[in-house]
Amino acid sequence: MAGGFHKLERIVSLEVTYKTHGYVSVHTGLGDSVHDNLVIREGGEDSRPIIPGSSIKGVVRSLVESILAQAGKQICVPFPCSPTERRAGRIEHIPIAPRLTPCDWRNAQPCHACQLFGNTQQRSRVTFHDAKTILSAEEVTTLTRRHVAIDREKGTQFGGALMAVEAVPGDELEFVSLVTLINPDPWMVGAVRETLPLLRHAGVGARKSRGYGDLIVTPGAVKFVLHPANDLRTEAVYQEECIQRWQAERATVTLGSPERSVSTSGS
Ligand SMILES: [Zn+2]
Repeated sequence: MAGGFHKLERIVSLEVTYKTHGYVSVHTGLGDSVHDNLVIREGGEDSRPIIPGSSIKGVVRSLVESILAQAGKQICVPFPCSPTERRAGRIEHIPIAPRLTPCDWRNAQPCHACQLFGNTQQRSRVTFHDAKTILSAEEVTTLTRRHVAIDREKGTQFGGALMAVEAVPGDELEFVSLVTLINPDPWMVGAVRETLPLLRHAGVGARKSRGYGDLIVTPGAVKFVLHPANDLRTEAVYQEECIQRWQAERATVTLGSPERSVSTSGS
């Protein structure tokens, strides 16, 4: 059944810490046409900065897709993750392999990315909660720099407009969040835990070329929120198995395998 979990068997969670390294730019939604900041002030200038879970999920999904595509998995391009965004440089270090058109629920098995992160017809197995600081808005000191706005599509100046960029200082600001997976396949838990630290290398934190810093991401240990009573594995053993399964997924080329029989209609 698309969208639902008819049986709730397992919920796992992990705490994730994001620490600024160097000055990390903050998106305030004011006069900033470049939406590549992970850190935002949700409620405007005077609010506490957060890292929205949806942004983290977007970057983790892009990375997992790229890794799986490189391993020969057939991965679709979901509608919200357009090539425009990819061209814009979110993924700097991992080349993009050819992709399928978006998965359709009428196909027997959606692609790995849609299984884990969902699509318009299928619920995501993973939830990234907003990452928050323990500091109040006043305790977070920032600085503002001005840049000429750049049109990222054309690579040219954006009408010569000056853009204010707010940045939070590095090496002292820590954000904490929770990631939850519902009824995950073990490789999914491994994928999330192993991919989060790569955010640092994916152009996240943004504007590195302009001397800004990035975020050091540290996932904590996998915890059981709910697990099958007949499963006697400890959390540590389960986590290790999940990581091994993910490493197998990312290493094995399974193009054409019946298990991955996502339709490549027209080819
Ligand atoms: Zn898909």
